[in-house]
Amino acid sequence: MSAAQPGRLIILSAPSGAGKTTLAHRVIEELAERGCRARFSVSYTTRSPRPGEESGRDYHFVSDDQFQRMIEDDHMLEHARVFDRCYGTGLAATRQALDAGEILFLDIDWQGARQIKARLPERSIGVFVLPPSRQALQQRLEGRGQDSAEIIAGRMREAQAEMSHYAEFDHVLVNDDLEVAVAQLLAICLGQPVTGCAASDHETLIQELLAP
Ligand code: ADP
Ligand code: 5GP
Repeated sequence: MSAAQPGRLIILSAPSGAGKTTLAHRVIEELAERGCRARFSVSYTTRSPRPGEESGRDYHFVSDDQFQRMIEDDHMLEHARVFDRCYGTGLAATRQALDAGEILFLDIDWQGARQIKARLPERSIGVFVLPPSRQALQQRLEGRGQDSAEIIAGRMREAQAEMSHYAEFDHVLVNDDLEVAVAQLLAICLGQPVTGCAASDHETLIQELLAP
């Protein structure tokens, strides 16, 4: 996508561990090879940095007061409380990216996705990423080696609440075979026809993932 073409926002939502970060990094590389400028949006959050996380790269880590002021000054495109912490997407940086014709990937929850679709319906595409099974989700959370057993159990519980919002998204993509998922997300980003990314393509899986 060149500067002559309008930029767009690719909203990626998923339960933690479904693979959206892996997918987006791969697609950003593929887009770069095609001469498209694409990158991750860096959100604001009031949570503390985890070991290895850097302010400005992973998040802009801010205080509750700073976050509140940004909302009051209308500097947030969207914001939400997730896991009892505040998260939000800055308006200025998003505008800049769109004006520059970039593809910006937003790793945000369903509440933020809903606000952006309402505010920028023409410039945003919502993609919900599902794991191929509950067992695969658990294995990926464990395999990532980042979280304790207690945190993983919590993320598995939260996964169902997040996944129950799949129908609000333009596309539902199952990240089973990574190469297939990368090709599907790439096609979505390039505005090309894509198959196998409708909620109706995954009815049985969705029932299984959402079963009590
Ligand atoms: P998220 O950003 O959604 O929390 P990650 O991208 O961190 O998830 O992926 C979670 C783990 O699953 C990582 O260890 C990653 O390497 C692995 N993973 C991602 N996609 C796949 C896939 N299609 N098949 C198997 N493992 C995957
Ligand atoms: P984490 O703290 O694990 O990095 O992220 C927790 C959750 O917050 C994830 O579901 C992520 O998608 C969501 N999140 C991260 N940044 C934002 C944001 O800017 N806005 C919203 N609404 N959610 C976000």
